[in-house]
Amino acid sequence: MNLSSALERTKRDFLVTNQYLDNLVNFFEKEAREGLQKDSERSLPMLPSFVTQIPNGSEKGLFLAADLGGSNFRVCSVHLNGDRSHELKQMKWRVPNETMKGSAAKFWTYLAKCIQDFLTEHHPEQSSFELDGNSYLKMGFTFSFPIRQTALNSGTLIRWTKGYAIEDAVGTDVCESLQTAVRALNLPVDVVAIVNDTVGCLLARSYETGSSAQTLVGCILGTGTNAAYSEKISRIPKLATYDSVPKSAKVMVVNTEWGSFDNNVKFLPNTEYDQALDLMTPNPRFHMFEKRVSGMFLGEILRRVLESFLKKGTIFTSAKTSLRKDADILTPWSIDTSFLSYSAADGSSDLTGIQQELTKIGISDSSLEERQAVKEICHVVALRSARLVAGIIAGLLKMTKAFEKFEVVDIGMDGAIIEFYPHYEEMVREALRSLRFVGANEKRITIGISRDGSGIGAALCAAMAG
Ligand code: ADP
Ligand code: MG
Repeated sequence: MNLSSALERTKRDFLVTNQYLDNLVNFFEKEAREGLQKDSERSLPMLPSFVTQIPNGSEKGLFLAADLGGSNFRVCSVHLNGDRSHELKQMKWRVPNETMKGSAAKFWTYLAKCIQDFLTEHHPEQSSFELDGNSYLKMGFTFSFPIRQTALNSGTLIRWTKGYAIEDAVGTDVCESLQTAVRALNLPVDVVAIVNDTVGCLLARSYETGSSAQTLVGCILGTGTNAAYSEKISRIPKLATYDSVPKSAKVMVVNTEWGSFDNNVKFLPNTEYDQALDLMTPNPRFHMFEKRVSGMFLGEILRRVLESFLKKGTIFTSAKTSLRKDADILTPWSIDTSFLSYSAADGSSDLTGIQQELTKIGISDSSLEERQAVKEICHVVALRSARLVAGIIAGLLKMTKAFEKFEVVDIGMDGAIIEFYPHYEEMVREALRSLRFVGANEKRITIGISRDGSGIGAALCAAMAG
């Protein structure tokens, strides 16, 4: 097959039509409602966050946030000024390998000592236990591992991921464990909330926009993808099994875990590249939406398309003879998603930026036609991601009757893809406009990047914990 017909075929493979998107909105809505009914292993998780207040920008005071993500532990203090602004101080530690694999007691003590160091450095007045209980600092804890949360301040660890293996911590309450370690060091800190990073993103953006708009969704587009949104409690039937929901609460933020949307791939596009990629992951048949959308995967999808073209002799014909066996283009997981961003940003007539990126992956020489093909492949891979995201955001807006209830509907986003991929937001907006359900209402949607959601959001969560 020649390059132009192979390219046409690939564009068709990655095409997400307007009609498909209209159906996606309805399919997502159905799956999400099922997830709100009851928990089941292969349905959309739709996890209650126990956060029942949305900030309006007037929150005030000094709060702490701790964030355990991949390999770093971050502690920060956030001073909320009550006028949508804040000041943030932070410190970060790389968790030592032996701490990631040792005993639970050592691990929690390590985190508590980091908190102690932070207080000594930035809030010496708060670092002793002399204070009375009212002066304790409230802390929100962003803990990015699977937990079964049963209250704002209670959640048991289901399993470790990302290289952690502290076996005696599994099955224990992470909030209580951190609190105990903090108390053992006599720190005046109350760990009052466990916060998912998407929930933090929604709260942080809500605080920033204040009463000028209603933030309904917080969405992460980084290594992985996920979103939280605010839902009426009366529409979350499975909450009836928990006794920790305040009687007066009307809404609750729900962590959709949308990375797991359509794990059975009844609806999602499923090219040969998606299928082959899935088999190379540690969790085949899970996180199927995420595997078509987020930073961890887009570079690898691109690599698989390029490799397939290369092996069929449709592209890089002159570079092929001198290609090394260990070149990145031939090595799974060796092309970073930033390749797609550089490609989209290259507006030069001879695409020199793309050649530079190609050289890094082992292709030292290419024709202009080949570079144009690379640019188009990058574009269709990113465009599919943006359009799928738009479809399920619209699904959430439909479920919540957003356009009937609010004049301006706001969405907070965070992560390298939305931050660095040129015009990603515009691609999302274009897809929203093309939807029957949204159409001209797209103008009523505001989208803003909410950096540091895990810090500010966790602090806000602590502020509202009462
Ligand atoms: P995290 O989700 O872990 O908090 P980030 O939001 O920084 O982290 O996202 C990291 C992911 O984004 C990685 O998968 C990386 O490949 C991808 N990435 C990094 N830089 C860019 C870029 N310029 N354009 C697109 N994706 C990028
Ligand atoms: Mg992040």
